Amino acid sequence: MAENHPLQICFQNFQKVKNCVQTHLSNFIQRHSSPSLPSFTNQKEPFLSASPSLGKQNKDPTHQILLKGSSAAPVTKEELGRATWTFLHALAAQYPEEPTRQQKKDVKELMAILSRMYPCKECADHFKEVLRANPVQAGSHSEFSQWLCHVHNVVNRSLGKLVFPCERVDARWGKLDCEQRTCDVQGATKFW
Ligand code: FAD
Repeated sequence: MAENHPLQICFQNFQKVKNCVQTHLSNFIQRHSSPSLPSFTNQKEPFLSASPSLGKQNKDPTHQILLKGSSAAPVTKEELGRATWTFLHALAAQYPEEPTRQQKKDVKELMAILSRMYPCKECADHFKEVLRANPVQAGSHSEFSQWLCHVHNVVNRSLGKLVFPCERVDARWGKLDCEQRTCDVQGATKFW
């Protein structure tokens, strides 16, 4: 049988050391995220909190992946709502004054899909009713942003929140600050 090349032997040893480090690292992580130990799930950086010795300045990519992998607090209904309204109002702010037929169709479909797929059943069911009573108006930027402001207020009212003055919607949700119109809604830029 042919003898192993010295480089090959060296490589095999390296593999063994690597496997050993990986095993110890994963045991260490499991121990620190064990339910018998104090829970850090509500903290922003649970892994850092569990291992202060690693320090806040650890920019190592592996460490960052470990951070992401550790359990985080679930998204609340309020956070999800705020994020979704931010998305919708940002979309309305970018929506063109003269939308194409496709763009009008797309926003109507988006709202219908939202009312079916929104990951909070109670909210989705309520939004279906809101849409039935207030069909999407997307003939222009002002029409769509005013309609969205109105339906957001319908939801606000049902939750006992303050009503937002819709004449200030453009001031609250101005166009995104992007160079060379890179934030335009797709299909809004004409090249001819
Ligand atoms: P949000 O209502 O999330 O608003 C975010 C920001 O938008 C505000 O801080 C304000 O600056 C601005 N804003 C407020 N009103 C308007 C407006 N009319 N026009 C423009 N800008 C405005 N939660 C429930 O508990 N039950 C439900 O049935 C429910 N249904 C929802 C349906 C949809 C489609 C969405 C997207 C969310 C729903 N939510 C529901 C979540 C709820 O609307 C709020 O997002 C959540 O309660 C957090 O409220 P908030 O006070 O932080 O502000």
